[in-house]
Amino acid sequence: MNNTTGLSPEKMTACYLCRRPIFSGGAPMLYRLRLEQHVADVAAIRQLAGVEMITGSSAVARALAPVNRLTAVLWSVERNVCLPCVLGGASDALPLLVDCAEQDAKAEE
Ligand SMILES: [Zn+2]
Repeated sequence: MNNTTGLSPEKMTACYLCRRPIFSGGAPMLYRLRLEQHVADVAAIRQLAGVEMITGSSAVARALAPVNRLTAVLWSVERNVCLPCVLGGASDALPLLVDCAEQDAKAEE
């Protein structure tokens, strides 16, 4: 177990989906989700594609073009989700989770 990456008491918030205390379901385990919304960096993609077209090699283009990322992060949040919510169908709640996370991220800006 790696304790250097554990959560501080301030980050032990309630479950983001069910709003109950994070260990109230009886399982001493949680998931820490990081949600990010990315948008394509069209200029970077064009630059990389242009160098690739000239060199004829994607590997050479990646080595020559000073592009280190092809997206930009619009917003990001990290939230806790309890084990019962994950086991009980968190995938059904994913669209709601993303909507709520986006609203929270914009409110934190
Ligand atoms: Zn929960």
